Amino acid sequence: MIVAIDGPAGSGKSTVAKMLAERLGFHYLDTGAMYRSVALTALRRGIDPDNEQGVSTIAREAYIEFIHESGAGVPTRILFDGEDVSVAIRAPEVDDAVSSVARLPRVREIMVVRQRAQTSLGDLVAEGRDIGTVVFPDAEVKVYLTASPEERGRRRHAELYERGVHVAREEVQGAMAQRDNADSTRKAAPLSAAADARIVDTTDMSTVEVVEAIAKMVEADR
Ligand code: C5P
Repeated sequence: MIVAIDGPAGSGKSTVAKMLAERLGFHYLDTGAMYRSVALTALRRGIDPDNEQGVSTIAREAYIEFIHESGAGVPTRILFDGEDVSVAIRAPEVDDAVSSVARLPRVREIMVVRQRAQTSLGDLVAEGRDIGTVVFPDAEVKVYLTASPEERGRRRHAELYERGVHVAREEVQGAMAQRDNADSTRKAAPLSAAADARIVDTTDMSTVEVVEAIAKMVEADR
């Protein structure tokens, strides 16, 4: 069974998808981490994030692996060509570059093939922007998470703060709005809810409530 979770930045996808996967005993796939690791590598190698040939070469040749930290039920670390980039891919510079990389059709083609290959592991909770529309259009359960821009900005700001990245809340919100706009207006696989996705507004919901709501949808479909 595949559970597809899509939505904009700060909608709670990652926290919810990880908790849900743990609870159901499903595998977990963070597709945003894949695009982020390609963007990080382009930045490090001095390749323009708009350079389709250069960036798609990185995407094609990289060895991307998800690993478990000890005690974790789902993979929480990402190795890119053997290097643990889990922290580096969350840096604000990567936030700023990732949408340019993710807009490139050749990069997306390569990523989608890699993402679909993860079904060989078994049942999957996959999160991203195009999971229900492009990657797994036949997913049994599709959810589109959303929240007010203020709440999403608050969450993202808190997340950065926790990691020791101190940026003004307005700045975080502005950068997030720009990224959402780029992700929603691109030609290739834009961020959008699949026609058969259930839309869940998480503004006034706790993480546990959202996980419960999706778990019920999964149970109903089993
Ligand atoms: O989910 P996260 O915020 O980590 O995703 C980072 C970026 O990766 C998004 O802003 C988007 O540009 C890209 N992305 C995508 N398609 C996905 C997942 C992420 O284009 N399925």
